[in-house]
Amino acid sequence: AVEITGLKKSFGPLDVLKGIDLQVRRGEVVCVIGPSGSGKSTLLRCVNLLEEPSGGKIVVDGVELTDPDVDIDRARTRIGMVFQGFNLFSHLNVLNNLTVAQRKVLKRDQKQAEEIALRNLERVGLSEKVDAMPAQLSGGQQQRVAIARALSMDPDVMLFDEPTSALDPELVGDVLAVMRQLADEGMTMLVVTHEMQFAREVADKVLFMDGGYVVEQGPAEQVIGAPQQERTKTFLSRVL
Ligand code: ATP
Ligand code: MG
Repeated sequence: AVEITGLKKSFGPLDVLKGIDLQVRRGEVVCVIGPSGSGKSTLLRCVNLLEEPSGGKIVVDGVELTDPDVDIDRARTRIGMVFQGFNLFSHLNVLNNLTVAQRKVLKRDQKQAEEIALRNLERVGLSEKVDAMPAQLSGGQQQRVAIARALSMDPDVMLFDEPTSALDPELVGDVLAVMRQLADEGMTMLVVTHEMQFAREVADKVLFMDGGYVVEQGPAEQVIGAPQQERTKTFLSRVL
């Protein structure tokens, strides 16, 4: 579970997050929507401590990440992240992309790391690509490998930052199907997305962010289907 209270983040004079409260319970899927520049990526990057919060509290599975004494590297291994771009190591084949962090960070031996890698490749439907290099894969396949790589670290929670927005339209469905399957398996997920259909069908809760605030949150059928706030209505009228 993820519990965020009063999260603030500034870059110099620019206040990007102005006090975000957000809860993702174990097994829940929370989707974050909102206009460009509203702070969605910054929010996810704070949860993964790629950015240092300027204020507030983030607790992931009982560990307070914002505690100055916390072991950041250790805490971070419990949080999987998949970005918009494809962040595979281009010089490593698929198998090694999936095993390197398992061995270096979790100290698993090669055999165990490979077993876990193969299991997760199967989960994303790419067993036959185990020896391929990233450049030989389509964008959608690369993104599914990135998901398998994150899963191989046994995360408590998976963060997704617009994982399909750089993909050709015909490749989006495969990646969303893998995410949907993860949700069905009970993975705790925090997903920034422009895919309103996915949010409607998969999210337990949708948050609409604008200007560094959570403007509106609730069940998808409420926030997307019957928004209360003018800003949410305006945003949805543009993207739906
Ligand atoms: P998009 O939908 O385009 O991805 P977003 O909601 O993810 O937008 P963020 O990337 O979180 O938005 O950016 C929010 C604001 O913070 C923007 O004004 C951006 O320019 C600013 N920002 C983000 N990262 C930094 C940084 N490292 N230094 C300075 N400003 C930053
Ligand atoms: Mg972003």
